[in-house]
Amino acid sequence: MSVSPEGGRADRLLDLALARLKEAGLVRERTTQRTDSTHVLAAVRDLTRLELVTEAVRAALEELAGTAPHLLAGLVDEEWGRRYGRPVRLGKNPTRPKTRTLATGGDAVRLLEHVGEHEADRLSGPRVRALQQIMVQNYYRDGAGRLRWRTAEDGGLPPSAVAVVSPYDPTARYARRGHVTRWKGFVAHLTETCDPDGVNVITDVATTDATSYDAKALPGIHTRLGRRGLLPTEHLVDGGYTSLVHLEQAAREHQVTVTGPLPVNSTRQHRKNDSFGRDVFHIDFDRQQVTCPQGETSAGWHGPYPTSSPTAAPLIVARFTKSQCRPCPVRTRCTTTTDSARTVGFPPRELRDLPGPTRDPPAEVLAVRQRLSGRHQDPRQSQAQNLLSFRV
Ligand code: SF4
Repeated sequence: MSVSPEGGRADRLLDLALARLKEAGLVRERTTQRTDSTHVLAAVRDLTRLELVTEAVRAALEELAGTAPHLLAGLVDEEWGRRYGRPVRLGKNPTRPKTRTLATGGDAVRLLEHVGEHEADRLSGPRVRALQQIMVQNYYRDGAGRLRWRTAEDGGLPPSAVAVVSPYDPTARYARRGHVTRWKGFVAHLTETCDPDGVNVITDVATTDATSYDAKALPGIHTRLGRRGLLPTEHLVDGGYTSLVHLEQAAREHQVTVTGPLPVNSTRQHRKNDSFGRDVFHIDFDRQQVTCPQGETSAGWHGPYPTSSPTAAPLIVARFTKSQCRPCPVRTRCTTTTDSARTVGFPPRELRDLPGPTRDPPAEVLAVRQRLSGRHQDPRQSQAQNLLSFRV
């Protein structure tokens, strides 16, 4: 999902600035541009699950106190004032956690049922809606109708892509990259010109969910660059943005060559150094035949078959026969099956022969990354924290 800050006003401001820079001759169409991404923290506090539920009740109460204070009469008492009167800070090891989770869940249910009974349209307020979602992702009702706290083993937990992490910004998501980088927020994709004889001008800034793949941002970047009359001839990216599907789409729709390394082939044959990966097979598209390292020619050619992933290319599958593979002296380097024969999957010729795929990320992209990582070595010190104020 693309997140549009300030209702698209930032985009319009960038449009205006780029139009002026174009007039001044500082940026032009059909040059080389590069894109890389960095994480952006949501301007919200880092909350434990129990703190999140408690803060969600507090946020919903505050919203109702502003929009329909009469609804709170007879519901909010001194005890609720003590629990939800100020920002919650329970820490990772609160006292009596089970009692607290059930008491807070019970309060949330009471509040939502009360609002639903008296003024159901108030259930669509942003904070009240966030409370409903946060309740669903943290509690469930067992067979006897009792409220239960969800765990991975008991009731299950939602995936990060849909789990709300703050009632104050329901679009922020928890994400991790590698073993070190974990954050709650978004991903910013920065595109800039990188011709050696010109100035570097930022031509697009896109913000997406923290959990979404970089490759999903590419079509939107090209659409906006096309609208601004600033499409590049060559677009340099790292492996997070490349897939044959997106490379082909960029070439067909925008006449842009996307240059970057394709994701690593994860099949067993590619992981093991001495195994026969797809690349050691010779493919003859005209004859619809594949020749293996032992000189055998495939007996079947099927597809292309669509794949379930929107970023994966359709695959042609070539099959060898049992009579070819069973007696093969190097079969253990080729296939794990002891009885059947090797199959090889590969994309159609028009995708396979696309210009653009490289072995390593282009040096120009690595240069951007060094700049970004220099600025945000600790993700918790993202610029977003300077731009946006904490709400809790
Ligand atoms: S196992 Fe089959 S496909 Fe693989 S090298 Fe031997 S004959 Fe060729």
